[in-house]
Amino acid sequence: MSESTLPVTANGHSPEWTPDSWRPKPIKQCPEYPDQTALSKSLAELQRLPPIVHPKEITRLKALLRDVARGEAFLLQGGDCAELFDYCEQGAIESKIKLLLQMSLVLIWGADKRVVRIGRMAGQYAKPRSSPMEMLDGKMVPSFRGDILNGFHPDERELDPARLVKAYHHSSATLNYIRAAISSGIADLHRPLDWGLGHVRDPVLKAKYSEAVNFLTDMLRFMHTIGADKNEKLDTVDLFTSHEGLLLEYEQALTRLLDNPAHAPCSTTTKAKEYYNTSAHFLWIGDRTRQIDGAHVEFFRGITNPIGVKVGPTTPADDLLALLRTLNPSREAGKITLITRYGAAKVADLLPAHIRAVEDSEYTRTVVWQCDPMHGNTQSVSGGIKTRAFSDIFSELQQTLRIHKEQRSYLGGVHLELTGDAVTECLGGSEGLDEDDLSTNYTSFCDPRLNEKQALELTFLVADHYRN
Ligand code: PEP
Ligand code: MN
Repeated sequence: MSESTLPVTANGHSPEWTPDSWRPKPIKQCPEYPDQTALSKSLAELQRLPPIVHPKEITRLKALLRDVARGEAFLLQGGDCAELFDYCEQGAIESKIKLLLQMSLVLIWGADKRVVRIGRMAGQYAKPRSSPMEMLDGKMVPSFRGDILNGFHPDERELDPARLVKAYHHSSATLNYIRAAISSGIADLHRPLDWGLGHVRDPVLKAKYSEAVNFLTDMLRFMHTIGADKNEKLDTVDLFTSHEGLLLEYEQALTRLLDNPAHAPCSTTTKAKEYYNTSAHFLWIGDRTRQIDGAHVEFFRGITNPIGVKVGPTTPADDLLALLRTLNPSREAGKITLITRYGAAKVADLLPAHIRAVEDSEYTRTVVWQCDPMHGNTQSVSGGIKTRAFSDIFSELQQTLRIHKEQRSYLGGVHLELTGDAVTECLGGSEGLDEDDLSTNYTSFCDPRLNEKQALELTFLVADHYRN
């Protein structure tokens, strides 16, 4: 159906939503495939394949995020900027699960709240780019747009629709191993954890971290002694998956009308069937694709999953409310996570007005406020290498915590780009990485990530905020 044949509501949205009602809308970052026949073949294959995640899991995450919106739990979301198919490998998956688990223990200790964990994992394969071409080894080539679209190698820059199906299989294999590792005890809390604090030179910081680690180690030992760790809730933890819902062809193919686990027979308030995007538990709209009348918002308004919206420095406060009214007209608490990412120099000017616009409206206490201190703090250093300073990342997070406290709203979560490997992509932290160190182990194909030590250190600093 074309746009003109659909009745249109006041906010410009057609009341009837279908998995493909985004198609006539203006779209940003849309791939133009050279081979349409191959594209149709891939999409037909995706539509036939089973869901990657189950509506029951999506419903469970929604209930947990409702608790976050109400200030009763904290959301930790993290993983790679661009996940590569090559990261679908035991070691890389395990190190990220362990890091997220460790960080969540520190947060539980600090904030005295349950922690909901979501990985930027098992599907974070599509990247928005500011320019269609980029320089590689002295040559201009089409930009790398993530493994789901093209390859990093200069010979693989043409968009290849077969990669859509490959993405499905890598996503499923990654999630399969996450589930297997978790149910087999990778997250067993009675196993000693390696907290590796040897790099921390500052004695005050070291004393702070040691206090937390000693407390956690004693608590875990005590629980083991009294048998409390046999409780099945402690042997297994939840780790949900997420990615940016950028590639709408892919997201549509995995969106299915399925039984609603929350529906009681005879209920008039819930529907028996709902549309679930089964590519991940949680999806977010990026800062470049959140136009209120655009295709991405149209697609996202129809899916039952909890969703995120990136909120950057160019977001007018009015747009925030329009987005909430379109994406969450029934004002479900926890349905929308606002992921703020202004940069350390701008957050103090911009965040208070955004908080007031939402919290003084009918959406008060319904959103999860989450701080992404990464994307507003990217800088280029000599040779054009992209990096981020740990001090800027920490500063944005610290200011965000303070502003929410002053505004009497609740900062419910953090959104980080990180890896369990010892990469050298962000400057600073207790290891004191400087510009000369960046080349030691810079392996990101997109944005610079916190390494394991930097990620843990940031978590200790957040925990410290809550304990003081
Ligand atoms: C990202 O999360 O990797 C990203 C591109 O973020 P943003 O949309 O906030 O720029
Ligand atoms: Mn990124």
